[in-house]
Amino acid sequence: MILKYFHYLFYLSVLGSMRDPFHLQWHITNLCNLHCEHCYQDDFSTKRDLDWSGLRKISDNLLNTIKEWDQKVCIHVTGGEPY
Ligand code: SF4
Repeated sequence: MILKYFHYLFYLSVLGSMRDPFHLQWHITNLCNLHCEHCYQDDFSTKRDLDWSGLRKISDNLLNTIKEWDQKVCIHVTGGEPY
């Protein structure tokens, strides 16, 4: 009975993932000049940021992976303050 229940939950989660977009949060920079009180960051520099070619490489890898998944994906670009 318990096994059937877990199979059922697994089945629902697989179906759910096919219907709902996969959400991906991509933290592309620590850079930010706002310093909000609630912020959890302690480093606001760019010293660990990737250059454009590094970002492009990650982006290409992400797009290839998403194509393989054949699933809707919602990518949230965040930081820091990337905009
Ligand atoms: S990273 Fe976000 S939360 Fe942190 S200081 Fe900047 S805007 Fe505020």
